Amino acid sequence: MIVTDSEQRISDICAEWREDGLTVGFVPTMGAFHRGHLSLVETAAVASDRVVVSIFINPTQFGAGEDLDKYPSTLEEDCASAESAGASAVFIPQTDAIYPAGFSTGVAVSGITQGLCGAVRPGHFDGVTTICAVLFGIVRPDLAVFGMKDAQQLAAIRRMVSDLRMGIEIVAAPIVREPDGLAMSSRNRYLSAEEREQSSLISRGLEAALSLFRAGERDCEVLRNAFLMTLKDASVLRAQYVETVDPDTMLRVETIDDRVLLAVAVFAGKTRLIDNILIKSEV
Ligand code: AMP
Repeated sequence: MIVTDSEQRISDICAEWREDGLTVGFVPTMGAFHRGHLSLVETAAVASDRVVVSIFINPTQFGAGEDLDKYPSTLEEDCASAESAGASAVFIPQTDAIYPAGFSTGVAVSGITQGLCGAVRPGHFDGVTTICAVLFGIVRPDLAVFGMKDAQQLAAIRRMVSDLRMGIEIVAAPIVREPDGLAMSSRNRYLSAEEREQSSLISRGLEAALSLFRAGERDCEVLRNAFLMTLKDASVLRAQYVETVDPDTMLRVETIDDRVLLAVAVFAGKTRLIDNILIKSEV
């Protein structure tokens, strides 16, 4: 497996693969891998001939007071596990190579990025779409895999790729969870024992809402309240938002017709966790 910080090298390697008729799958990440990340690599490896993983802690998607300075980095382990999951190359660029002096362009997706995380993390999604556009330009993948855990990010990337005719297939990978239901996240390592224990209520709350839907409930307010009720006795959890939205547009839905995304952000102590569930009829 190739490991490089050189934009030129990764770009050349991908060009050679394409010339050889091989398809290139891409998984952009910020590193500190858990099984969620590795599932994305595995999905890309099934769907394409070569897989490039990028590890880049993108400063422009962090707001003031967020965890940029303490964001975990486990590069050696990440490279080993990426290789086992089927990666052909890991690209680990330096920040000043990605954003050289004079870098002046941003890609912003409106609408989709306004609510949910966009409302409480101003500028976050502009940082995400811009870095993805830059990395897509370097790697020029045939497809890119994103996790459904970051559902709003996934919707924004899909919109960007479609609007800008980037010609990249965007593949969504399901949320990988701990045995007690907590969605895997690089930030879970910040949790104290008590926070970690109570955090399992987040997925339980989402499941409670799904059960109500399956029992015939269609009023989204009732589903949002079911989530909040599950958290009510959790002393270290505080919901930041609980929203029911259309999974493509991220616009609020009040009555479920077909399907709705119940998306939440919850503080466990100082750590902000996000999770969601797609609520729809069983097929
Ligand atoms: P990050 O390193 O947090 O920027 O995440 C990189 C990619 O991994 C994104 O597409 C995330 O949606 C995805 N991801 C993170 N956590 C999970 C998870 N628990 N299950 C599936 N995908 C995930």
